Amino acid sequence: MEHGQERDHVARPTLPWRTDRHTQCGRTADDGSSVISVNDLQARIQRDGHERTVETICTTCWDTSRDAARWESNPIGVVAREAVRAGIGSREPSSRPEAFGSPGNSES
Ligand SMILES: [Zn+2]
Repeated sequence: MEHGQERDHVARPTLPWRTDRHTQCGRTADDGSSVISVNDLQARIQRDGHERTVETICTTCWDTSRDAARWESNPIGVVAREAVRAGIGSREPSSRPEAFGSPGNSES
């Protein structure tokens, strides 16, 4: 891998009714960076092996993807992650759980 080459990010499994897409490391998936699915990541690992694949993937995405819940196999895990993100159990849970990131960061 050439120095300075941008690494791929891995898409975060989202709730089926959500249309926004984010990466495992918290980026917006359409900010211009290269994003692959968890399935693509698995295929790449099978094809190239762990050691070569890890060098092509964003470090945070790599770490988070390894045990990330997928909707197909672990929908509760995906819901749980979203719930935590939205502040479940917090004294100040988000009043806009559908919004990603800071309140007021609306797209309108
Ligand atoms: Zn990433």
